[in-house]
Amino acid sequence: MKAVVFHGVGDVRLDNVPSPKIKDPTDAIVRITTAAICGTDLHFIRGTVPGMTPGTILGHEGVGIVEEVGKGVTNYKRGDRVLVSSVIGCGSCAFCQRGYFAQCDDANAKGPLAGTSFFGGPAATGPVDGLQAEYARVPFAHTTLIRLPDSVNDAQAIPVSDIYPTAYFGAVIADVSEGDTVAVWGCGPVGQFAIVSAFQRGATRVIAIDHHTDRLERGRLLGAEVVNFDEVDPVAALGELTRGRGPHRAIDAVGVDSESPSAGPAIPTSEESAINRQQVEAIASKTNEQDGNWRPGNAPSQAQRWAVETLAKAGTLGIIGVYPPEDGFFPIGVAMNKNLTIKMGNCNHPRYIRKLISMVESGVVDPSRVLTEHEPLTDAIAAYREFDKRKPGWIKVALNAGK
Ligand SMILES: [Zn+2]
Ligand SMILES: [Zn+2]
Repeated sequence: MKAVVFHGVGDVRLDNVPSPKIKDPTDAIVRITTAAICGTDLHFIRGTVPGMTPGTILGHEGVGIVEEVGKGVTNYKRGDRVLVSSVIGCGSCAFCQRGYFAQCDDANAKGPLAGTSFFGGPAATGPVDGLQAEYARVPFAHTTLIRLPDSVNDAQAIPVSDIYPTAYFGAVIADVSEGDTVAVWGCGPVGQFAIVSAFQRGATRVIAIDHHTDRLERGRLLGAEVVNFDEVDPVAALGELTRGRGPHRAIDAVGVDSESPSAGPAIPTSEESAINRQQVEAIASKTNEQDGNWRPGNAPSQAQRWAVETLAKAGTLGIIGVYPPEDGFFPIGVAMNKNLTIKMGNCNHPRYIRKLISMVESGVVDPSRVLTEHEPLTDAIAAYREFDKRKPGWIKVALNAGK
């Protein structure tokens, strides 16, 4: 079968690989009809989330049709149309039972203390081969698969595999409640859904911050007030918008590939740029930039520092942007002295997916609007390159099965 395979930092290829087989009784084999490329995949190829095993199939967002199930799977059978949760949880350990699927004791082959297991991730996550392929083996299929109603098409469902629940989780852990003013840092695909989720949780104002004008425009259309940090100092701007108090809640939807301003009053001094460079080097010891591709963000802690600096006293920050274990640059002192609450982590997807799918089904949200590109799986590598360059308009790429 065809699959997108990680070969090394800066080296991703479309390969022919053996089709997956059932290994455990709780496995299912799913024929993937639609997958998607995520910013998380880019972190791996840029080297800012290190530790990938060469040969791992990438991708953790998928919709498909069940081909085969193991003996232990009784809620799905061949022919069922399903959404795949990007995080894998067994459903029965003490953590899954409390809803912490991202901290499952059993899903990670590296053991209970190894952390989150998800499709197409670094060695420390298992690794489990991913979903940018014609077929995928889905462990713990009874919890990792979610049945799709016929009325929800692939394009509507695919964002609910990862980015919408991740964003919703961001609004939950940021304690967004009725009447809140919420800062959403980053207007990429997850940021777009963070804006939607903050409003769903009762926010009355959402202020979205980015420097890509196409992404800010999409945020504005979702109802957010927008701040372009290449045009204004975002710290001053958030102060002005909130009479100096700052937003009650903030969601970091950026992660390790954060960027500093490239123009405007907040452009970093040479001293600040030097600190940013040191942080990039400490986190991404190995990078492989080529022709403008696979360039790490130049300021890994920029979004965090702004979020902490601008939050109201006693506010809450929810971090859903991805940071690797190598990253130790969080501004803890500033946060501590403002009595901030900081919550973070990988989303416990199975906890939210059904609820979000029912909202899609009822027409409250149409997640397909975030998809700007639809490419065949066979064109995945070219799509990776365009998406990585943050080319205007390339917000979110769906990969469709050919034929
Ligand atoms: Zn993702
Ligand atoms: Zn578990």
